Amino acid sequence: MSLFSAVEMAPRDPILGLNEQFAADSNPNKVNLGVGVYFDENGKLPLLKCVQAAEKALMDAPKPRGYLPIDGIAAYDTAVKKLVFGADSEPFKAGRVATVQGLGGTGGLKIGADFLRKLKPEAKVLISDPSWENHRALFQQAGFEVDTYRYYDGATRALNFEGMLADLKAAAPGTIAVLHACCHNPTGYDITPAQWDQVIAVVKERGLTPFLDMAYQGFADGIAEDGAVVGKFVAAGLSFFVSTSFSKSFSLYGERVGALSVLCDTKEEADRVLSQLKIMIRTNYSNPPTHGGAVVAMVLEDPKLRAQWEEELAGMRVRIKAMRKALVQGLKAAGVKQDMSFITTQVGMFSYSGLSKDQMVRLRNEFGVYGTDTGRMCVAALNEKNIGYVCESIAKVV
Ligand code: PMP
Repeated sequence: MSLFSAVEMAPRDPILGLNEQFAADSNPNKVNLGVGVYFDENGKLPLLKCVQAAEKALMDAPKPRGYLPIDGIAAYDTAVKKLVFGADSEPFKAGRVATVQGLGGTGGLKIGADFLRKLKPEAKVLISDPSWENHRALFQQAGFEVDTYRYYDGATRALNFEGMLADLKAAAPGTIAVLHACCHNPTGYDITPAQWDQVIAVVKERGLTPFLDMAYQGFADGIAEDGAVVGKFVAAGLSFFVSTSFSKSFSLYGERVGALSVLCDTKEEADRVLSQLKIMIRTNYSNPPTHGGAVVAMVLEDPKLRAQWEEELAGMRVRIKAMRKALVQGLKAAGVKQDMSFITTQVGMFSYSGLSKDQMVRLRNEFGVYGTDTGRMCVAALNEKNIGYVCESIAKVV
């Protein structure tokens, strides 16, 4: 008997499993729409110019690599607060935001989850149905019971906003509501500003704890536009959590750059919360890595690099929108009778295509077009060269 003889084989991560299958596929026309990554018009992972410029500046003045503070680079945390809440906002000026550098958006979520578990051990967590596949596992691993609120209705292929509102209304006070700030993953459907007002009213009335996951700021309508939902929560006088990811918006996936921000009532409260967040970090990985945070801080704070980043991010956003349009037109041209125009009302990197599991499996096995079994496709992986083939393949399975 070995120490590990009772250890079960865990199921494979569905998306990474898909990637492995894609890599092994010998179809020369194969297209990977399964990933959650932005590719440029040549199908390549971009290395942003603003990032290269910041890296060059950092290399030109090399610094030794001591430990960072537990909560990360101070200038980075400040830049994140300004980005998320606004440099002129009352919470930023009053110092009532506690922000820590995190290992990607996932790291921000995990620090927040661990802190909340200590603070409110009895609370339940509600995530959208469906949601990013790691939300449930992450909050469960932190010790929470996780349930869902209705969000997308497969039968009508549309948002079920009434269901969402009803489920939030029915939640017990103190329930942690995980909300996608913009570019909902996996569906691509966001609620409108007016619907956000209704959600915020329910959150307030029921005493729920909002946890905004902001993994795609700048991919829907713009940096300020996508961040506007944060201002709405501030205006409602709520305390809440925001996780930030720069994986997509800086194309810095592997650098693991993100953050957690917690809006508190006062500066004094924020100081106490920050001290507790630091314990979560200290006991998990002690302190964050230096490089990615330094790059992002420099780009966000240097006016020239900041302008370049905004332009490059806008380029990604505009290209995705163009691909959505081209997909709708291409599907029509390929003979798809059903109205696919919903693809252009969706935003962000993903589209819930409405295709069934059987159709997705056929797409994969017969045509080498890879999306998830749920029908999710990454629009950000489409380009002029592969979109025609993707449209023809879809037309053959629907
Ligand atoms: N939240 C959502 C909704 C996401 O889609 C992702 C990334 N796919 C994350 C969080 C995690 O981001 P990161 O890769 O920066 O950890």
